Amino acid sequence: EKLEGRQSRKKVVAVVGGGLVGALNACFFAKRGFNVHVFESREDIRKAKIVKGRSINLALSHRGRQALKHVGMEDKIISKGIPMHARMIHSLSGKQSPIPYGRKGQYILSVDRANLNKELLSGKRRQKDAEDLNDRRSDGSKDQIHADLIVGCDGAFSATRKQFLRRSRFNYSQTYIPHGYMELTMPPVNGEFAMKPNYLHIWPRNTFMMIALPNLDKTFTCTLFMPFEDFEKITTGDEVIQFFQSYFPDTIPLIGVEALKKDYFRLPAQAMVSVKCSPYHIGDKCVLMGDAAHAVVPFYGQGMNAGFEDCIVFDELMEQFNEDFCAVLPEYTRVRVPDDHAIADLAMYNYVEMRAHVNSKWFLFRKYVDNVLHFFLPKTIIPLYTMVTFTRIPYHHAVERWHWQNKVINYGLLLSAVGAVLGGSYLLTKHSQQVNNLAVPAEKMWTRLVSFRIPGMMTTQM
Ligand code: FAD
Repeated sequence: EKLEGRQSRKKVVAVVGGGLVGALNACFFAKRGFNVHVFESREDIRKAKIVKGRSINLALSHRGRQALKHVGMEDKIISKGIPMHARMIHSLSGKQSPIPYGRKGQYILSVDRANLNKELLSGKRRQKDAEDLNDRRSDGSKDQIHADLIVGCDGAFSATRKQFLRRSRFNYSQTYIPHGYMELTMPPVNGEFAMKPNYLHIWPRNTFMMIALPNLDKTFTCTLFMPFEDFEKITTGDEVIQFFQSYFPDTIPLIGVEALKKDYFRLPAQAMVSVKCSPYHIGDKCVLMGDAAHAVVPFYGQGMNAGFEDCIVFDELMEQFNEDFCAVLPEYTRVRVPDDHAIADLAMYNYVEMRAHVNSKWFLFRKYVDNVLHFFLPKTIIPLYTMVTFTRIPYHHAVERWHWQNKVINYGLLLSAVGAVLGGSYLLTKHSQQVNNLAVPAEKMWTRLVSFRIPGMMTTQM
């Protein structure tokens, strides 16, 4: 009987933006039997010869997969993804050390953005009421429809969001980080991947870093993240090679000297922006999702995943409130804003972590401790990365839990250290009474031991 009241007249939904989140959202609304119109300002990606835009590939994880599962597309997308079980850290000397993402069997997937977008756009046609779907271009001209709901999925520079800015009590902030990014291709070697494929390769170099994700055609897409001012310092092909020789020497033979010299200047470095706003809705008429609501910096690999989760959350509320937009939209804002703000903050935190901390012994030690504790107490201690990437624990709960876990673990470590020192000095004292010719007196040894400092007791950088 729920369905009866819902669809006496098919409601019309206008989705603004046919990118990843807009296309997925269209699947969700089409599945519910709505009459969905997608407005996309670019050429249809399924017909375009050159696809301009952001990163070539992306890391898909649990939240994104769950959303795809809701619309019956998970298997199709996964079959074209490449599992990445661990980060592979490249040192300056070329040494490679893996750091697993989670437990055995837990991995993230490298997926091709353009293919994912095409599949999602085609996917909505396969949903119920496909004949009612109608794609239109938003070229600022004649196409007009009357919609019951406008869903703004038009990305970080959303035109839909601009309309919100005219209204009172709309909070908005945007921050550009000093870093830009540039993509370079690492071709296959003798028809095979040039590096181990089932890893997200990282070259952390403190103030900048490079990462590489594998593609189905056996290439890697390398992304160099660096302050704009450093990008601008490099003006000739030879300087590019010098720079790579100093910081990423192992990649030069793999990318190729000539390709590096050319590719570096193919496109200027792109900017990255973090956007936060609230509320996400206007009355029962308009709602923002994906980057339009919350562009995040790409260092947690969660931008798309969070946007996909927006779609699940909205769909769950549609079920709960019998598709009553008056109830669903405010509730969506209430539930989703704290989570999207939390992931925006976490992404900023990881911006520091990926560049700097993966080089730190304390960071690696803490990761190890977290993983060991998670192994023995899987329900009590869950590493932050695991909560964010492999569960659907609301992002802001994950952050709260992380702070709590950090306190407990750090106190635990401190107590263990103090216990070890006390125990050690007790044994030494006892021993020194027995052995008269002890080289270092016990009090001195104690001073030495307590002066050992645990570096960076908290890793919080937010
Ligand atoms: P977009 O993908 O930006 O799509 C918006 C669409 O709206 C576009 O098609 C655009 O043409 C259209 N549009 C814009 N204005 C209008 C208008 N006025 N009318 C009609 N249409 C309009 N996320 C992850 O989860 N994992 C990753 O590994 C990851 N890596 C990333 C790496 C980089 C370098 C970057 C920059 C981002 C990365 N992200 C990642 C984030 C991810 O790319 C975004 O979160 C995701 O693309 C958001 O999807 P969206 O549909 O909301 O916006």
